[in-house]
Amino acid sequence: MGGGSGGLAAAMVLARARRSIMVIDAGRQNNLRTSHSGGVFLHDGANPEELYPKARKQLEQYPSALIQEGKVVGIARSRAGFTVTLADGSSVETRKAVLAQGMEFEKSAVPGIDDLWGTKVIHCPFCDGYEARNESVLAVGTPDWLAHMQIILPNWIDDLGWAESATIRAVRDKGGQLSVEFEDGTTEHWDKVMTEVIFGPRDALAASLGCKTSAAGHLEVDDFGQTSVPGVFAAGDQTVPPQQVNLSVGSGHLAGMGVVFSLSHEDRGGKGA
Ligand SMILES: Cc1cc2nc3c(=O)[nH]c(=O)nc-3n(C[C@H](O)[C@H](O)[C@H](O)COP(=O)(O)OP(=O)(O)OC[C@H]3O[C@@H](n4cnc5c(N)ncnc54)[C@H](O)[C@@H]3O)c2cc1C
Repeated sequence: MGGGSGGLAAAMVLARARRSIMVIDAGRQNNLRTSHSGGVFLHDGANPEELYPKARKQLEQYPSALIQEGKVVGIARSRAGFTVTLADGSSVETRKAVLAQGMEFEKSAVPGIDDLWGTKVIHCPFCDGYEARNESVLAVGTPDWLAHMQIILPNWIDDLGWAESATIRAVRDKGGQLSVEFEDGTTEHWDKVMTEVIFGPRDALAASLGCKTSAAGHLEVDDFGQTSVPGVFAAGDQTVPPQQVNLSVGSGHLAGMGVVFSLSHEDRGGKGA
């Protein structure tokens, strides 16, 4: 479930192995709030809005692949494997499941940051740092995150400032530079803000199945994307700590391979793990 880069990559591997695959997708890929994909293999700089339809179209060339718009609201073990329930009340039986719902990002405590995120507020130096190389950028976050950024951000950007989130009252875009208003009444102007982002699971599907998570909150998977629950695979941001399209695609590809291996062994009478 999930038709972002992780889910679509897994689906492509399965479709090419002539396995029946249904991608159920709610259509909220997390990078749709930006118009730029930095460092994505073969698509550096492309608009995500153009990439997803292209990926879906490629997948739909395969006769055993089906993409279904919708939201999964439940998943439970069944005799065949799993029963997946959608928000519209329909359900689907599947032998294996790939969880690829992405992650949900916590709203920033600083007013203005969420509205500007993806345009004048950025969060990932690997994604947007190069494009900001000639701009002034204020990094805003917790002391630990700022300490990390002070070491790495100069790779991309020269004109940098640092501020703890708690010291900022609001960030406003009045055209031109951003106006950053501090709690002490002062105001500074910066081209961009680089913000710390906190993320968590988008839903309780993995938890309801009993999938184990790491201390950092990612789903634990084996070398081929299988979670701690047999038959349940996972891909994308939920499994890969650095959130990058290329890594999400790689994890989806591995999960797709894992499902192919598992089904093939089962079909021959093996355990399927
Ligand atoms: C603002 C921003 C900019 C970024 N820029 C870059 C960049 O420039 N370069 C780069 O490499 N990375 C970038 N990233 C990171 C990159 O977008 C992610 O690492 C990657 O897209 C994650 O893919 P995913 O498939 O795990 O999740 P997503 O792309 O979020 O896809 C998950 C999909 O699952 C769907 N879904 C969720 N729950 C359900 C459910 N219950 N039922 C059905 N469907 C469901 C969602 O609606 C969504 O369509 C950026 C991220 C953000 C937020």
